[in-house]
Amino acid sequence: MPATPGDLQAMAMADRDDAPRTGARAGHPLADDEIRYLGWFGAGPIDEPETQVRLWESWGMCRRHALGFLAVESSLGDAGVFRPVVVYDNVIDRAAIALAPRRILERPRIAAALRTAEPCPICDPGRSGRRQAVLTAPNIVERGRSLEPLRLLADQTSEHWQAWVCGLCAGTASPARCRLHLAEDLRRGIGVDLWHQRELVDELSRRLRAYTRSFGWANRGTETPADRAGLFGAIGWCGGWRSILEVLG
Ligand SMILES: [Zn+2]
Ligand SMILES: [Zn+2]
Repeated sequence: MPATPGDLQAMAMADRDDAPRTGARAGHPLADDEIRYLGWFGAGPIDEPETQVRLWESWGMCRRHALGFLAVESSLGDAGVFRPVVVYDNVIDRAAIALAPRRILERPRIAAALRTAEPCPICDPGRSGRRQAVLTAPNIVERGRSLEPLRLLADQTSEHWQAWVCGLCAGTASPARCRLHLAEDLRRGIGVDLWHQRELVDELSRRLRAYTRSFGWANRGTETPADRAGLFGAIGWCGGWRSILEVLG
């Protein structure tokens, strides 16, 4: 089902701070060439070791492309979500390392470890110039425009991921923090319960590991809605929750 004008407006609002790319249609945050590129990226380059290192260094994709990538991949059905799950299963391990118990008293080091060292690989594909090479599945643009599969996944899991939403992203009293707000709190010397943040990251890590495992033949279908929620939790934790809340909340 194509996205409704309300869907498109919601995504546009969610990304109002991001300059629209050349070719973007009014009201839609992703241009057709970005959807094609994300479809191509998920069908091959994402498996290359070089890409996985890059995604580790950039904490996954920016919030705009993380949600766009999930929209494109979820349009391929449940199996399509495998790629984003694997990406964020790896990236959330980096968060667990940054918040390791032996580091918990070293706040400046944690803040430094949480910094974004590399830009999103979709915003900045680097020297490879991969934006040129775009061969994708038929109808990828039509499918990528639709937010329905993404909304379904979000609706089925929201009772679990709502508890992980960053209080500063959402403007609530929740003590949970995304990576960006946690780093900011630490830099500004604002008191933050790092053990609580660590528990949150550990739970996301466990959920995504279980979700990843469920794509294996022997464990097919063993993931729970809470495990699936881990994907939203990790995307929100790594890049901030604003896009997720405004588009899917
Ligand atoms: Zn990006
Ligand atoms: Zn936040």
